[in-house]
Formats: sequence, C-alpha cells, structure tokens
Amino acid sequence: MEPAHRHILVLGDQLNRTVGPLASAEPSRTTVLMIRSRAWERRRAYHPQKLVLVRSAMRHFADELRAAGFRVAWVETDGSPAAALGAHLAAHPDAVVELMEPADHGVADAFQEVAGDRLRIVPNALWLTGDADWAAFTRGRETKRLRMETWYRMQRARTGWLMTEDGKPSGGTWNLDHENREPPPPAWHPWPAIPPLEPDAVTRAEIDAVRAEHPDARGAIEPFWWPVNRADALRLLDDFCRHRLRDFGRWEDAITESSQTLAHSQLAVPLNLGLLTAQEICEAALAWAADPAHEVPLNSIEGFIRQLLGWREYLRHVYRTRMPELRERNLLGHDGPLPASFGGAPTRMRCVSHALGTLDATGWTHHIQRLMVLGNLGLLAGTDPARLTEWFHERYVDAYDWVMVPNVVGMSQFADGDAFVTKPYIAGGRYVDRMSDHCGSCPYDPERTAGPDACPLSTLYWGFVERHGRALRGVGRFDPVVRAWEKRPEADRAAILERAEVVRRGLADGSI
Ligand SMILES: Cc1cc2nc3c(=O)[nH]c(=O)nc-3n(C[C@H](O)[C@H](O)[C@H](O)COP(=O)(O)OP(=O)(O)OC[C@H]3O[C@@H](n4cnc5c(N)ncnc54)[C@H](O)[C@@H]3O)c2cc1C
Repeated sequence: MEPAHRHILVLGDQLNRTVGPLASAEPSRTTVLMIRSRAWERRRAYHPQKLVLVRSAMRHFADELRAAGFRVAWVETDGSPAAALGAHLAAHPDAVVELMEPADHGVADAFQEVAGDRLRIVPNALWLTGDADWAAFTRGRETKRLRMETWYRMQRARTGWLMTEDGKPSGGTWNLDHENREPPPPAWHPWPAIPPLEPDAVTRAEIDAVRAEHPDARGAIEPFWWPVNRADALRLLDDFCRHRLRDFGRWEDAITESSQTLAHSQLAVPLNLGLLTAQEICEAALAWAADPAHEVPLNSIEGFIRQLLGWREYLRHVYRTRMPELRERNLLGHDGPLPASFGGAPTRMRCVSHALGTLDATGWTHHIQRLMVLGNLGLLAGTDPARLTEWFHERYVDAYDWVMVPNVVGMSQFADGDAFVTKPYIAGGRYVDRMSDHCGSCPYDPERTAGPDACPLSTLYWGFVERHGRALRGVGRFDPVVRAWEKRPEADRAAILERAEVVRRGLADGSI
C-alpha cells in the first residue's frame, strides 16, 4: 500500500531534521507546515537581532527542506499560529498534522483547540530527557525539595556520561564547582576569537526587513554573527570544543572587559532554535575531552555537562510541571520598577553599564552577568519579578518562555523560594570585585556600604538582609549573614539603610 502523505508542523524552535517526525519522513511524501507569525514578533519589544535570528533561521530551514525534496507550506500571518494551522487543515481535509511537543506553555493547547484529533503531538526529541525521566526522579520525593544536584547525578548514572565502569563518577566526585570560580586572568590574556559567521543573502534580507519593520527596536542590529543554519551551528560547536572547552571550567564564573564570551560556548543560541540537539553537543564535547592530547580538565567537561544535562533539562521540567503558577510567583513581594538603566538610561555602575552595553550590541551576555550582575541588581533593588522576566525576554537572543521563567523567577529572583534553588543568588560589590575587572574603573567603592561613594550592590545587599533576613532564616546558609548584620552597630545599620533608600530611588530615576 502507498504510504500516506504526511503533514508535519515545525515550530521556529524545532529547526532540526535529525530527530522527531522529520527524521523518518520521506521528503516527496511530506508537507512541512511552517508559520511565521507577525503577531509573535510584535508581542514584545524584542532585540532586533532576536528577530533577525529567528526569521533567518526559519527561512534557512525552509530552504534546506525544499532542497531535500520536501513540500514546504510556508505561511506568513498577522493572525495566530493556531489560526494558520486551522486554515491548513481546512485546505487539506484528509490531513493529520504531526507536531513535536512545543516547549512553551500553552502552545500545544492552542493548537489542539483548533485541530482536535487531527493534531498528533509526539514527544519532543530535541531534549535529552523526557517525562518518564522526571517521573522517575520525583517518585518518592513528593514531600521533599527537588534538587538539581540529585537530578543531575541520576542523569549521569543513566547516560553513563563521565562515569567509570563500576558506576562511580569519573575522578571520584560528582561536583567540581569549587574549581570553577577563578577570577578573570589579566587583561592581556589572549582569548580565542570566535570566527565571525558572515551574514549571507538570506540573513542580509532579514536584517533589512527588520530594520524597516521595527525602526524603534532597541539594540544594534549589526554586526550580526549568530548561527542561523545547522552548518554554522556545527561550526560554532566545533570551535567551542577546539578553543574554549578546555578553559570552560576555570573561568565559568569570571567577568572581564577584555572578552565578551570568555570560555563560554554561546551554544544556547542555536540549541534553543533546535539547530543542534543537546545530545550531539554533549557527545561532541565528551568525545573531544576524552582525547588526552586535548588537555581538557575534568572540571571543565564536568561543568559543561552539568549545565546541559543538569541545569537545562532540570529547569525545563520544573517549567513544564509548574506552569502557569510559576510565572506569577513573588515570594518576597517585590513590586519595584526596573532600574532606569535597563530601559536605556546611562548608569555609572561599571559592571551594569558593561553588561547592558554588551547586551545592546549583541543580544547576549554570559551567565554570570545575567545572574550576578543584572539579576542580582534587580533582586536587591526589589524589582517586580514578572516585569524583570519580560525585560530579559525582550533583550536576549536566546530567550524563550520555558527557559526564561524558571531562570528569572526561580533562580535569579528567588521568587519561588527554595523550591528548586538552594539560596537567593545575591552578592554585594565585593563579589563583583573579586570575580571581575570592573571595579577599578568604577566610581563606586565595593568596600563601602554607606555614603555617596558606596557601591550600590554593597549597600542594597544589606538592605535586602534587613528586609528579608528574618523570613529567610534557615534558607541556604543565610543565618550567619543575618547574624553578621544584627551584630553591626545600630548607627552603621541606620546609615546603610538610609543610603539603600537613596540608591533605590536613584536606580529608578536614573541618577545611579
Ligand atoms: C537571569 C537569567 C536569564 C537567563 N536567560 C536565559 C535564556 O533566555 N535562554 C537560555 O538559554 N538560557 C538562559 N539563562 C541560562 C544561561 O545563562 C544561558 O543558557 C547561558 O548563559 C547561555 O550562554 P552559553 O550558550 O554560552 O552557555 P554556556 O555557559 O556555554 O553553557 C552551556 C549550555 O548550558 C545550558 N545552560 C547553562 N545554564 C543554564 C541555565 N541556568 N538554564 C538553562 N540552560 C542552561 C545552555 O544551553 C548553554 O548553552 C539565563 C540565566 C539567568 C540567571
């Protein structure tokens, strides 16, 4: 019997032919539905490079499918993607559409509502782990805190990655985080340059179109160097393994003005579009590190695998199982505005202005700038976590709801308490001074907590302890911090709290 013609819906973050329904599809008997929704583009004030990235990657993927012999039903619409699916089904009355489970909350329901049983949703094979892995992890832990570390160890054991033959972690320990906290090397350190990926004709056309359609988009649209197709994504992966994986661990937490990337991979950008799978990234890194000639220390490869097999998969399941309430969580009751600098006002805080400048130029900063500079400032200043989540969503090229909500609400703003992170990620200026080379050229002094020269982070840190310390007693080693605060002379505390009020107002009105 002739196999039926297949219809496969591919979303903009599922651009991959190596897994899922597309992997088994016979091109000449398959129609691939791709929907470019202008409503999606307009729902937030996205960084222009995010718009170019997604538009160009989708067009490249459609071209690649056509070249391979697939029929591509390309739809551009001002309406919703679900309405476009409805129109496709109406035009193909015998079709049943296959779709890999969407990562973002609510998307599957919206499609299902218009398509009913003419939509077949299959597991999303871009992930390393599935519902069954999460169920195995949570079973018996219903009343306990779910810890990433426990999840990660289970997944290491399951995959056999970085495990010895007798089931022990390679090197005898699961966690080498303590080796991954080196401050940045001196400014003259020769960071490996990432070979620029020049925009091709498709990307150039999208740059021109985004420029014309979104003239007020904040941030530079060029130079644009993000990978927009699988070949470029594989090149970035290869470049990372060759030139940065070795040092990934030691400088994972460092910040420097001499390099935007340090030894980070930037792979979240193509990975979150589906151009690469997490499996192939991990396997490539593990294979590279396995060759002693490449001199990749265990703390680097372990740290890298931890991010993907551990944090990325763990947060995705937290999101999947906790939405929609996770988005609304606000344990600390923060309702403050965004710092004015986040909206474009200049700031004299060197660490903040550097991170925001990098973000405007590229739509990307590395993790520690997200967590310990921008997120930290937002938390210490008492910013509304939902507003901050939206802001991160708008500004980052690798942002998607499934990754943004748990990272901002849960990890960075402690708005879900210690349900899935062990402590609030807060730090004063001393931390930034130790881990970066910013403070030497900043007008604020990280050692000072009161007075006009005090580092705003150092002041706000104690303001946070005063505001929330008692409630957070017992959480993540907070007690000694609270005790240290309470032991300070009354006059010192009053001066710090007075300055904290000035700082909070200054952040809001743009004078800090
Ligand atoms: C406030 C805040 C906002 C964030 N927003 C995003 C976002 O919009 N999109 C996004 O993909 N990640 C986000 N992260 C997680 C992390 O910062 C980025 O994945 C990472 O910086 C991307 O750069 P990279 O590819 O060079 O990562 P690397 O440092 O090279 O790490 C390797 C990979 O590990 C994964 N990873 C590492 N940490 C996390 C994490 N906490 N959550 C999920 N995956 C992780 C990423 O896929 C990343 O590519 C956010 C973190 C925080 C604290």
